[in-house]
Amino acid sequence: MERVNLLGADIDTYNFDDAVEYAKSKRGQVVTINPEMLEYAQKNADFANIIKNAELVIPDGIGVQLGLKILGHNVKRIPGIEFAKRMLAEFEGHPVALIGAKPEIIQKTVENLKKEFSKLNLVYVQDGYFADTEKVLHETADTKPELVLAALGSPKQEEFIYALKNRLPQTLMIGVGGSFDVWSGVVERAPEIYQKLGLEWLYRTLKEPKRFKRIFPALPLFVLKVLKEKWS
Ligand code: UDP
Repeated sequence: MERVNLLGADIDTYNFDDAVEYAKSKRGQVVTINPEMLEYAQKNADFANIIKNAELVIPDGIGVQLGLKILGHNVKRIPGIEFAKRMLAEFEGHPVALIGAKPEIIQKTVENLKKEFSKLNLVYVQDGYFADTEKVLHETADTKPELVLAALGSPKQEEFIYALKNRLPQTLMIGVGGSFDVWSGVVERAPEIYQKLGLEWLYRTLKEPKRFKRIFPALPLFVLKVLKEKWS
């Protein structure tokens, strides 16, 4: 396995199964990275430091896969939502904490996951709209989960996990973005054809046009930056 640098951040190039095995044995923080996060890391040193110290950084989407390709690395993306689901299966019976999303969403997510994983052992469940972060960090650490999934959006989920790391050094913790929205059944995942083509972002943008303003300018700019890095 190789760690390759893309716009200042080191990204791991495991295939899906090897990433799963590595995460299970290594534990610590998993960052599922996308172009927006790389962009943010260039402006924010604290966030860049979190990525640098993560035990595993996986290329979540087609944007990062494309960026790596431009630099000559053929790496397959690992969708964070699939990686996290696999971890729930791997950790069946072990203590798990779920933190994030709106109250009704996390409630539905728990219901659905319990149906899917009969031995799911949830020791802590908390929605993502809390005021007292220290309290939630403390409560999470107290329940001693072996797996933490944080769905707080980025950079909040990465900061939250980073703050938990020294309190739970043997725990695997993954920032999972909008995964609970999908698992709850409230937000549908893009149809398979979009997934296969790596065009989930396009599907989501069509469904939710306000994302367009956020995502669309970011992608070409990201590609330009990578090209600049390649030629410099
Ligand atoms: N979220 C949260 N607390 C917050 C902000 C966001 O729990 O303070 C949740 C939000 O409800 C959603 C998830 O974080 O379930 C991801 O949000 P978004 O889609 O904006 O982030 P992305 O995955 O695009 O980074």
